[in-house]
Amino acid sequence: MTPPADRRFTKDTPDQPAIVDLVRRRIAVLITAFALPGALLILGSPAGPAPGAPRIAAVGILLSTVPVSVIVYRTRTAFLWFNRPSRQAALALAFTVYADVGTAAFLLLFRDQGTALFGCALFAVVSSFVAFFGTSVAVVFHVVATTAVILIITLRAAMDPSSDTLALAAAGVSLWLAVNGTMTVISQTSATLHSNLRTQIGRAQTDPLTGLLNLRGLEQMVLRRVDDDVALGFLLVDLDHFKRVNDLHGHLVGDEVLALAASRLATFVGDDGLVARRGGEEFLVVITAKNVDAAELVDRAESARHRLHVPTDAVPITASVGASLVTPDDVAEQDVRSTIRLGMHRADIAMYRAKSAGRDNVQFHGSRRG
Ligand code: GH3
Ligand code: MG
Ligand code: MG
Repeated sequence: MTPPADRRFTKDTPDQPAIVDLVRRRIAVLITAFALPGALLILGSPAGPAPGAPRIAAVGILLSTVPVSVIVYRTRTAFLWFNRPSRQAALALAFTVYADVGTAAFLLLFRDQGTALFGCALFAVVSSFVAFFGTSVAVVFHVVATTAVILIITLRAAMDPSSDTLALAAAGVSLWLAVNGTMTVISQTSATLHSNLRTQIGRAQTDPLTGLLNLRGLEQMVLRRVDDDVALGFLLVDLDHFKRVNDLHGHLVGDEVLALAASRLATFVGDDGLVARRGGEEFLVVITAKNVDAAELVDRAESARHRLHVPTDAVPITASVGASLVTPDDVAEQDVRSTIRLGMHRADIAMYRAKSAGRDNVQFHGSRRG
C-alpha cells in the first residue's frame, strides 16, 4: 500500500504553502528586531557592554543577526520544517541554540544587571518559536539555558549591596514564568494540534476501504513527487463484472475483494508510482519512475493485470486496463495538474476500449498512436 507519510501533507505546493513559509519572513524580521535593544545600549549607555573586548564581542553578536536573518528570509527549502522530520528537528534545534546562546552571551556582557534582567524578556520571543517548531530536545535546551541565565543575572544583581533581594527574586521568578511557563502549555497544545491535523488531512486524502489514496490525495502526492516537465504513465484498472461479485457473494465479500485487489496493486507498483482508488471498482496507477515509455508501460499494465487474477482465490477476478502516457509536449501549460487530467482522460478511453475488446486485456492510448 502507499503508506501515508507525514511529509506529504506538509511540504508546500502551489495551493498549500507550508505553515512555515507563511511565518518564515516574519521570523526573519524578528531576528533583526532582536538586535535593536542591544544596538541602543552599545551606542554609549553605561548599562551596556564595557568598551574594549566586551563591546567588540557584543557588536559581533549583533551583526550575526544580519546573515541569519537573510538566510531565514531567503532559504525557502531549508526552512520547510515539516518536510523531513530529522532535518526539521535539527534546524529548529540549531536555530534555538543560536538564539539562546547569542542572547545569553550578549546579556552577560552587560555592566548593569538590572538592565540585563529586563533583557531576559527577549527569551520569551524564542520561547514562542520553540513552543511551535521545537522538538522536546529544543524545549529542554531552552528551559535549561534560560533558567541558568536568569539565575546568573539575578544573583549578580543581588551581589550589589544596595539591591533589594526580595524584589530581585520576584523579578527573576516573574521573568522565568514569562519565558518558560506559557511555552510548556503552548508546545504541548501545538504538538497535539499538529498530530491531529496530520491525521485529519491523511483521512481526507485516503480511501477508507482500501487504505489507498483517493484522487485528491493522488494529485497532491504527484505534485510533491514530480517536476512539471516529466512524462507520466497512467494505468486505469477497472475490475470486470464486479457487480456480479456483489450479486453472487454479497457486498461485504465485494469489499474484501476490492481491498485485496488494492493491496496487490500497491505491492506491484511499489516505489515506481502511486496507486489511488478512483471510485467504485476502479483504480488509477500513476507511474512516476523516470523515463517511462509506452512499451514499458504496456508491460507493466500486463503484469498488473496478471497479478490481479489469481485462479485459486475464493472469488477470482479479472481487470480491464487502460494505459496512457503523457509527455510534457502533450500539455500546453506543462504543469502536473494538466498532465494528470489528460492522462486520466486517455486512460479512460483506453480502458473502455479494453472493455469493448472483451475485458481482461490491456489497451494503450498514447500521444501519437491511438
Ligand atoms: P464492467 O466489467 O463493465 O466494469 O462491469 P462492472 O459490473 O464491474 O461495472 P459496473 O460499473 O456496472 O458496476 C460496478 C459495480 O461495482 C457496481 C457496484 O455495486 C460495485 N461497487 C462500487 N463500489 C463498491 C464498493 O465500495 N464495494 C462493493 N462491494 N462494491 C462496489
Ligand atoms: Mg467501473
Ligand atoms: Mg468494472
